[in-house]
Amino acid sequence: MAFLNIEHLEKFFGTNRVVKDFNLAIDQGEFVSLLGPSGCGKTTVLRMVAGFETTSSGAISIDGQDVTHLRPNQRNIGMVFQSYALFPNLTVAQNVGFGMRVAGRPKSEIKARVDEMLRLIGLPKLGNRYPFQLSGGQQQRVALARALAVQPRVLLLDEPLSALDAKIRVSLRDEIREIQRELGITTIFVTHDQEEALSMSDRVVVMNGGVAEQTGAPFEIYNHPTTRFVAQFVGTLNTLSATVVDAKTGRVTVGETPIALNRPLAGATTGETINLALRPEVVSLGRKEGRDTILAGRLAEVHFLGSTIRMRVDVGGTLISLDTFNTPDTPPPRIGEAVELSLAERDLLVLTD
Ligand code: ATP
Repeated sequence: MAFLNIEHLEKFFGTNRVVKDFNLAIDQGEFVSLLGPSGCGKTTVLRMVAGFETTSSGAISIDGQDVTHLRPNQRNIGMVFQSYALFPNLTVAQNVGFGMRVAGRPKSEIKARVDEMLRLIGLPKLGNRYPFQLSGGQQQRVALARALAVQPRVLLLDEPLSALDAKIRVSLRDEIREIQRELGITTIFVTHDQEEALSMSDRVVVMNGGVAEQTGAPFEIYNHPTTRFVAQFVGTLNTLSATVVDAKTGRVTVGETPIALNRPLAGATTGETINLALRPEVVSLGRKEGRDTILAGRLAEVHFLGSTIRMRVDVGGTLISLDTFNTPDTPPPRIGEAVELSLAERDLLVLTD
């Protein structure tokens, strides 16, 4: 049995069913993200695990114990919120030691543990400061230390990085993951940011309309999305309309270009329009060996991002995004230039819904 088990979880707010038959089994020490757009129910799932929200039906167990109807303080769970939620009138050390003080732990133990936690989050000297004297990133680290100080069985993180600016967000991502690995603590992380979910998680649950649409390792989710929603929500996706020429062998045309997909198109009929998708990194500018589908177009946008360059090429009215690596000696082509794109048939995903 998994360490944290969520079975057939449902949540109604009035008649609004916001979580639908949600199932998830998490191993001890695993880092799992709930990823989805605003309103898809991820925070509600997290709050039910924490006990801040009642369940309409279903069960939650931790380490073999049914916690479905326990109060939050009986679950031994640590939680970090987007808004830090530190106590403003308490020092950093008092904030971190708060849970242990409530639990009646001896002073010497609290002090030792607070020191250990402040070292863990890289702020060993800031124990006497107040929250208003800290940056956003520092406040969030203190909130993490406070959640971890009571040695919870499970750590729940609700969009902890969303309020921070981009640079801090990326560095804190790595820090959180490092701390989580060091402690081996089972963690659920809620985010709407796909890059965050992919870069941090052992597994990602992509949610849509209260439903877990796909659960898998980041590599799996990104490269083998099982639904159109997952394909589009995770990463940038180009979609192309194709006309089926022969469904059995998978021959189609995109505009004037014939493409042999070399796989049967189940359920499709000749003349029907289907959607194909491909990731920006599998499209090459110019002709490349092994990429023998050639699409002609015109460069519409160039975004220089530093190590990579994102371009958008207008192919018969459809904009195709592609990424190339920056090479210092070769400036990118100019907007409006005629260009050719090449890609391999196997990189074209067939979207079925
Ligand atoms: P966000 O990233 O915006 O927080 P989310 O995926 O976490 O989105 P939830 O906060 O879980 O989504 O909300 C799911 C749905 O439940 C939304 O439609 C929301 O309006 C509704 N909802 C959440 N809390 C309540 C509540 N206390 N009463 C009524 N409806 C609620």
